[in-house]
Amino acid sequence: MNVTATPDSITVPVLEVFSSFQGEGPQVGERQVFVRLAKCDLRCAFCDTPESYPTPDKARIQLAAPHGREERPTNPLSVARLLEAIRQLDDPPGLHAAVSITGGEPLLHPQAVHALAVGIRSLGLRIHVETGGHRPGAVRHVIDVVDEMTPDLKLESASGMRTPWAAHAETYEILEAAGKALAVKAVVGADTPPAEVAEAAAFAAKHLPSAPFIMQPATPHGDGPARPTLYHLYHLHDAAGRVHPDVRLIPQVHVFLGAR
Ligand code: SF4
Repeated sequence: MNVTATPDSITVPVLEVFSSFQGEGPQVGERQVFVRLAKCDLRCAFCDTPESYPTPDKARIQLAAPHGREERPTNPLSVARLLEAIRQLDDPPGLHAAVSITGGEPLLHPQAVHALAVGIRSLGLRIHVETGGHRPGAVRHVIDVVDEMTPDLKLESASGMRTPWAAHAETYEILEAAGKALAVKAVVGADTPPAEVAEAAAFAAKHLPSAPFIMQPATPHGDGPARPTLYHLYHLHDAAGRVHPDVRLIPQVHVFLGAR
């Protein structure tokens, strides 16, 4: 029997759905609905969402912004339920410019992200996906139905793990061919050497030349990397700027705002 998956039948573990301002990358300041899916297969030292690693028993769904009531439905949620939450939050319709599908690592759930993107399209909102940039197979699965992605470039000095160069290259090349990369984002820490940033920027320029290379200073927390000084950031920019035509420095703006 051929059973067709529908937004009612596809389920996904969810952390939260909420309205906020995009705090990272070139769209910083844009009002977006955030759909934060649970689970991640990485453990970056700079991670600011470790609560996304397990699946919580209950998701948190904001019903109205900024201080609206919340619902706490039991996980996993259907894609249809998520679409209803987005529709309810985007009031009046078009208040938000986009829906940002984030995590955790949202591309651990390619079938749900695909169905979600198709539904969001019918709500008239842009579809943005944030990813660690290490799951090219899933990028291929969803690339036709999303508008844009921001893949990371995981620097070893900041993430504490080996840079997944091969997976990054494959991911970037899919995005370059589709013209759907918003930027490549690399978190940099106090101990990130200029030579590592230069290598990464050259790599991004080679595999994803259409996208800016964004250095995001680490936001200190726990055992994560310390924030680089402004002096150090100049050095990092000097190094990256020699090998990449569009290098930008964008900190996490939502942290300044006290926003999620
Ligand atoms: S990929 Fe993102 S969610 Fe996963 S550990 Fe790294 S920073 Fe955290």
